[in-house]
Amino acid sequence: MAVSQTSCEPMFINGEWTEGSSGKRIPVYDPSTEEVIAEIPDASAADIDAAVAAARHAFDEGGWPQTTAQERGRILFRIAARLREEAPQLAELESRNCGKPIVESEYDIADAATVFEYYGGLANKVSGLVNPVPDNALSLSLKEPVGVAGQIIPWNYPIGMAAWKLAPALAAGCTCVLKPAEQTPLTMLKLAGWLADCGVPAGVVNIVTGLGETAGAAIVAHPGVDKVAFTGSAAVGKLIMKSAADTLKRVTLELGGKSPNIFFADADFEAAIDGALFGIFINQGEVCSAGSRVLVQRSIYPKFLEAMTEKARTIKLGPPLDRSTKMGPLVSKEQYDRVSAYQKLGKSEAKLALGGGRPASISRGYYVEPTIFYDVDNSSRIAREEIFGPVAAVIPFEDEREALRIANDTSFGLAAAVWTRDIYRALRMVKAIRAGIVWVNHMQPTYVEAPWGGFKQSGFGRELGVHGIDEYLETKQVHINLNEAPIGWY
Ligand code: NAP
Ligand code: MG
Repeated sequence: MAVSQTSCEPMFINGEWTEGSSGKRIPVYDPSTEEVIAEIPDASAADIDAAVAAARHAFDEGGWPQTTAQERGRILFRIAARLREEAPQLAELESRNCGKPIVESEYDIADAATVFEYYGGLANKVSGLVNPVPDNALSLSLKEPVGVAGQIIPWNYPIGMAAWKLAPALAAGCTCVLKPAEQTPLTMLKLAGWLADCGVPAGVVNIVTGLGETAGAAIVAHPGVDKVAFTGSAAVGKLIMKSAADTLKRVTLELGGKSPNIFFADADFEAAIDGALFGIFINQGEVCSAGSRVLVQRSIYPKFLEAMTEKARTIKLGPPLDRSTKMGPLVSKEQYDRVSAYQKLGKSEAKLALGGGRPASISRGYYVEPTIFYDVDNSSRIAREEIFGPVAAVIPFEDEREALRIANDTSFGLAAAVWTRDIYRALRMVKAIRAGIVWVNHMQPTYVEAPWGGFKQSGFGRELGVHGIDEYLETKQVHINLNEAPIGWY
């Protein structure tokens, strides 16, 4: 593996760049070439202490929560504008660092800007309530920021996940300690460099780079952190919930899934095939809501499988910066090994229609083929475990009842999609599926105006929309006695 033009990208604590106290560094790769493109500090517990102290000070004494909501909104609009201005360079960096096709990175940057704009607009629309209590009193519910937010994000949508977490927190008046995934910190560090220009005071946003088991765990355990917002695997989500219990932190978890993408025989056939591919192959399948279980009604099953396979064969794999690329490499060697192991496992659990290995025509980079297994039993591991790669498990079903049973037979509950022209059936499925989002005749679109989050082991709490800011707010009751006389009890 070659090391070329490596730069150390320092982390951002209390408005300053620092290489941290450990002296240790973590390499950052371009997954399409397997080359190291940068190094980042491996944050120690002492670095996390410093970041939390900065965020604590900015919250408790620095005046961030007292900044007017209008002003916080204006700051978020400036961040959005900067993201749009820098979009071409930022998209390129995102694609180089995480391997996603450049066209997808451009969408992600635009989406991130939209998220900052949405919460910029929402900042001064957070209102309390007047409660109609029976006594002669004025009873109010006030909304106040929860405090210091620890935010831990994954590598699949680096800038997008950062926006989903930072924008509502800042709008609410919280301060932040954010840890990007060790694999994909580069765009977040770039954004950190613009914060002061946009008017974010020192200490309000701290970006710490490091490993989950050390830096991430230190954030979660830290008594100075009031709330943890996490996106990533269910396994780590469970560790976080346990650790956060010691300090009774508020916790929100977005943990991915094994989402059913359900096709009835009456669905528009062309749209259905497109939807099946988009559901599982967009972003190389590294999507928490990936439609990784493709449920197909038996009467169209052979025709569907054939059309899906033929169209998947045309998906163009290639360098992320090539505008015609539809699938880039997976993010890392670790993820490549994990997905490859599932490709191998699938061959023993089901039948293989397409792929199943690495593309023969590409000699380096963490590329895997779009892979389709069929006749998959819903009890097999490839139907139950989150693979987080371009691996579809196609499962036949007889009727609506069976589709529903299979769809809900999972420990996850993040997302689902139903394809049918029958409005009655669509709505019955929508009501009966246990998931945080159900699409009808589409899969994957996500809008900042609408809530996002899971049922069951896909986590809890909601991001985006008005729900998203609520997760960063406490409710304070205020009771004002309007009687001038003593209580008169004794
Ligand atoms: P992960 O281990 O859950 O990591 C997500 C984030 O949590 C990263 O920033 C990670 O740090 C951090 N982390 C890891 N262990 C931690 C701990 N003990 N305490 C606090 N933070 C911790 O995910 P991954 O290893 O990157 O991928 C593994 C699997 O997670 C994937 O195959 C996929 O199934 C799932 N995943 C889901 C999503 C989603 O959107 N739901 C996103 C990514 C991955 P470092 O990785 O930097 O050490
Ligand atoms: Mg990891």
